[in-house]
Amino acid sequence: MKRKLLRVGFCMFLTIVILFCYEHFQPEHKPAFAFAQEQKSICLTFDDGPSDSTTPFILDTLKEENVQATFFIIGRQAELRPALIERIYQNGHAIGIHSYSHEYAKIYASPAALLQDIKKCSAVLESILGLETDLYRFPGGSYSLREELLTCVRDAGYRYVDWNASCRDAELPGATAEDLFRAAIDTPADRNHIVMLLHDSAHRKNTAEALKMIVRYYKQKGYVFKTL
Ligand SMILES: [Zn+2]
Repeated sequence: MKRKLLRVGFCMFLTIVILFCYEHFQPEHKPAFAFAQEQKSICLTFDDGPSDSTTPFILDTLKEENVQATFFIIGRQAELRPALIERIYQNGHAIGIHSYSHEYAKIYASPAALLQDIKKCSAVLESILGLETDLYRFPGGSYSLREELLTCVRDAGYRYVDWNASCRDAELPGATAEDLFRAAIDTPADRNHIVMLLHDSAHRKNTAEALKMIVRYYKQKGYVFKTL
């Protein structure tokens, strides 16, 4: 009888020890930062400038909103407006090569013609700013281009960047600032990392007007503004 009581007592003791160990020493399954939010980012990119009628207004808005952007420059427009290129640079924005002539038939005729166009644009920027850039954007984007054109640009040491969202200012004739703003918030489709295409070429008054709404919207959504 005494031995039976001892055995029951021992079993109860063992159960308590097991329960205690389970409670206190089980492995921690929840990673400490499981619910940490990924930082969302947006790069605003302006192609086809600089222009007297649009670029200054875009620079004013970016300054007022204290955000930086990236400008892909057309060489033959830049050489007539060196002060605008300097202003873009002094305001802390990134500058990339877009094209010297932006004439598709000419620049996409062959890899050699493409490189010649890129180098001509690069030389204009270098003569104004005194520095070289390896940042490049294909006119029209790289999406439908022949592989030999992509290869020659990579082999020459340039890094090219396309886009994954757009305010569609080059596609929607007669679009109002409100239309461009709508496109700029619809086309990213909830991406956490956005590279947005906009234009600061001549007569893009509505792009300049939509910009403030676009910047404020993405600020409010928690995006940080980055350059390329
Ligand atoms: Zn372009």
